[in-house]
Amino acid sequence: MFTPPFTFTPEQERLRQDVRELLRVRCREDLVRARRARPWRHPDLTYRRLGERGWLAPDWPAEYGGLGLSLVESAIVAEEMALAGVPDSARVNTVDNAGSTLLVAGTDEQKARFLPAMAAAERLFVVLYSEPDAGSDLGGLATHAEREGDGWRLSGEKIWNVGANKAEYGICLARTGEGKSKYAGLSIFLVPLHVDGVRIGEIPGFNPEAFDHIVFDDVRLPADALVGTEGEAWQLVNEVLAVERTGVYFYGHAQRWFDLLTRFELPARAVSDVRGLQADLPAARLLTWHAVDLLSRGEDAAAAAAGAKWWTSELTSRVAALVWSVREAFTGREQVAARRPAAADRVDGLPTDDVELTTALSEAPGLTVAGGTSEMMLATVSAALFDEAREVA
Ligand SMILES: Cc1cc2nc3c(=O)[nH]c(=O)nc-3n(C[C@H](O)[C@H](O)[C@H](O)COP(=O)(O)OP(=O)(O)OC[C@H]3O[C@@H](n4cnc5c(N)ncnc54)[C@H](O)[C@@H]3O)c2cc1C
Repeated sequence: MFTPPFTFTPEQERLRQDVRELLRVRCREDLVRARRARPWRHPDLTYRRLGERGWLAPDWPAEYGGLGLSLVESAIVAEEMALAGVPDSARVNTVDNAGSTLLVAGTDEQKARFLPAMAAAERLFVVLYSEPDAGSDLGGLATHAEREGDGWRLSGEKIWNVGANKAEYGICLARTGEGKSKYAGLSIFLVPLHVDGVRIGEIPGFNPEAFDHIVFDDVRLPADALVGTEGEAWQLVNEVLAVERTGVYFYGHAQRWFDLLTRFELPARAVSDVRGLQADLPAARLLTWHAVDLLSRGEDAAAAAAGAKWWTSELTSRVAALVWSVREAFTGREQVAARRPAAADRVDGLPTDDVELTTALSEAPGLTVAGGTSEMMLATVSAALFDEAREVA
């Protein structure tokens, strides 16, 4: 039985039920159709409905489109989105990353101009950090911005971001100077994506959401494109990434796929894997909620979040491996014929579960990489433990 590190209030439980009902009943068809497309289509309707209720950013102040609640409510919505199979990169990128960056370091004008439209899902963002030669170690990035008049000129290239065809802007990490370390001299800019000098291409691959490759060729930016203090973005980037790394989404994916899979009659050889996952999924949930709890109380959650991200994203791969090993249980001709799903389990005349399960196979590998690879998460945990041991000694 799952025991959270704290008790959810009746209002929080109510929010969870309301979000669940919206996503699983009123948004179901939009979600099934979005996930059936290749690459996935952005589920506009679902996002608009969440946005209308302030549920995409419940922890933001009401003046910026939120509900003035806490990170706990935000994580409840994120967990329910993952459990309902909502393609969530638009929320992670727009709200958790770009929005949180603006909330922490933006000017009043930047916040008023962008945040309400982001919370309503009317304006989507992409995150432009990774480059062909800088992913785990962003200190080595080559994209650079130079002052020109009262603005900036940006050049470089970014890869592996998701959703540039729907997004209007990106938050872009670029070098604006040198410092004592390679992490000094980095700055964040708000960059419009559909202007002269920006070229967007798709990277072919098997991830269900298409990856983009974006080139900036002397793109002119106004002075107010800079977010926060020039040259001091590194700490901000890490502070904001901790939210994504709490692992709530990753846990939600693993639990959803497991629940979908165990609706089918599985072969006897799957029993020990199923039992192992039945024990490890609630443990994963505890790790994620521990990290959310620390963050919501303003405590240092970097190591807890990294540990949760590592464990939960690796768990998605374990569930995907089980999906693969018992695939005949839901894809075999006889099973499909015998199952004859009821109308309620069909959209456009097709069954809904097996499509989602086969997607798990192509989605899971990326989850151990997105937001920081498993090796880098373990390195963060190990560094924190080392520091702790040194303090005690
Ligand atoms: C689904 C998905 C969505 C993504 N979305 C975005 C996005 O929106 N925006 C964005 O900017 N990027 C995005 N990324 C990119 C992602 O952040 C990078 O892929 C990730 O940070 C790893 O960088 P890399 O691919 O350059 O690999 P590398 O950093 O080159 O790493 C290659 C391998 O070496 C290992 N490694 C590297 N350094 C060390 C070390 N010091 N110690 C031990 N092992 C090490 C890594 O763990 C990895 O296994 C996304 C990736 C995925 C899969």
